[in-house]
Amino acid sequence: MSNLSRSIAPANLFEGPYYLSIAGELVETKDSFAVINPATGLVLANAPAATSEQLDQAVTAAKSAFKRWSLLSYDERQSYLNAYADALEVHRDELARLLTLEQGKPLKSGAEPEVDQSISWIRQIAARRIPVEILEDTDSHIVELHHTPLGVVGAITPWNFPVLLALWKVAPALLTDNTMVIKPSPFTPLTTLRFGQIAQSVFPPGVLSIVSGGNELGPQMTAHPDIAKISFTGSTETGKHVIRSAAGTVKRLTLEMGGNDAAIVLPDADWKAAIPQLFWGAIGNSGQWCVGIKRLYIHRSFHEEFVAAFVEYARQQKLGDGLDPDVTIGPMQNKMQFDKVRTFLDDIKANGQKIVLGGEVDEGRPGYFIPVTVVDNPPENSKIVQEEQFGPIVPIIVYDEVDDVIERANDSPFGLGGSVWGRDTRLAVAVANRLETGMVWVNEMHTQGVDIPFGGHKQSGVGTEGGHEGRLLFTNPKTLLIKK
Ligand code: NAD
Repeated sequence: MSNLSRSIAPANLFEGPYYLSIAGELVETKDSFAVINPATGLVLANAPAATSEQLDQAVTAAKSAFKRWSLLSYDERQSYLNAYADALEVHRDELARLLTLEQGKPLKSGAEPEVDQSISWIRQIAARRIPVEILEDTDSHIVELHHTPLGVVGAITPWNFPVLLALWKVAPALLTDNTMVIKPSPFTPLTTLRFGQIAQSVFPPGVLSIVSGGNELGPQMTAHPDIAKISFTGSTETGKHVIRSAAGTVKRLTLEMGGNDAAIVLPDADWKAAIPQLFWGAIGNSGQWCVGIKRLYIHRSFHEEFVAAFVEYARQQKLGDGLDPDVTIGPMQNKMQFDKVRTFLDDIKANGQKIVLGGEVDEGRPGYFIPVTVVDNPPENSKIVQEEQFGPIVPIIVYDEVDDVIERANDSPFGLGGSVWGRDTRLAVAVANRLETGMVWVNEMHTQGVDIPFGGHKQSGVGTEGGHEGRLLFTNPKTLLIKK
């Protein structure tokens, strides 16, 4: 382990090299792996591949740091988190540009808002507190509920919002006295390594460590005896592996997983006004978001007009490299997802479903670009309706009866989010109340906040992030009973 440098010079473009962050040090690795720019298909940089010994070192350092970190007061930890937000702010432009380069999302409408929201999130969470609750106070005794830290938390993150989804975990975990080791997705490790490097100039050694590498690091973390909790965001299939692996050490788990969210546009909806929100609800981040609209149900009474207006709006967008200021939709983040989304296009064509926009991939174009594709009224049992596409394909599905569409929306193993659109808010809320999801928006899309729990029902998740409820999941409820 070498102390390569703890000075972090602000720059508009950080060009590496990248290091693991372990015990406050920047650490080299023997092996590395290539990170691809999805807009070009070319190698962007090499990322360090941690060994299992290096993962152990990070966990040992986090365990040792926990002893001192957990003695700090809330106010002291708030100061550290605010100092971290300030340090990230200095590097805001650099981080956003790097995020576009490794993830593909447009710089102005995607990467910069993601970095800004993350920084703001840290500051807001830093100001939150989890007080001791007095459960009973009688003549003979007092009963208090304390929320004590868990110890070392392992964060495992995906490639669609690599900065936001990691910092969503960092801020509440550190606020509540825990220390953390993050393993980013092998597809998008660079921004995480970079904000980890910046963290070493702020936090005491071992409080926040970053280990990048292949998927095999994940199971090592989920089985690790010195990690008390795993906060995981990723696919439902991987989440099931996490549950099995974590059983051996009875780890606490928060799992944010896949979804197949339905948007239901009711007969009385002001659907023309809602088209931009519905479009971006589905296509934002090139459709690569867990709470994206993956099934868009519209009432038969405005079917044809709706499809024409939706397609017209879609035609105004520009697909391309996120660094181009005119681009509003970026590529698929990686080749695996590019190939997976193409299996949906193949299935749609093989089954003669009606494509009213897109559908053809430009084979000669470098990078992983899939055009926005709109499928008009595919059958309910089709692959594009039943499975999570996680890409820019929108099935617009017609319904006649509200009761029937609620049943169809609920007929899924997933239950992450959903939305309901209608002029009569009482009716829309009544429909929303019948959806089996963790979150549901009415006449708005994707509103979030540090005090709003974010999580999934059914196979979309266990526990929540955000909100007081999410912060409590980084703590152990400890009851203290005192005889007076
Ligand atoms: P993924 O499950 O393939 O990978 C997620 C992370 O898990 C990566 O860091 C990966 O390296 C790691 N991993 C892989 N195998 C593992 C194992 N056996 N044990 C432990 N960790 C392992 O998911 P992805 O493709 O990166 O992300 C896309 C999926 O994530 C989609 O299904 C999407 O809906 C879901 N997602 C959910 C939320 C949410 O908040 N609910 C947010 C974003 C993404």
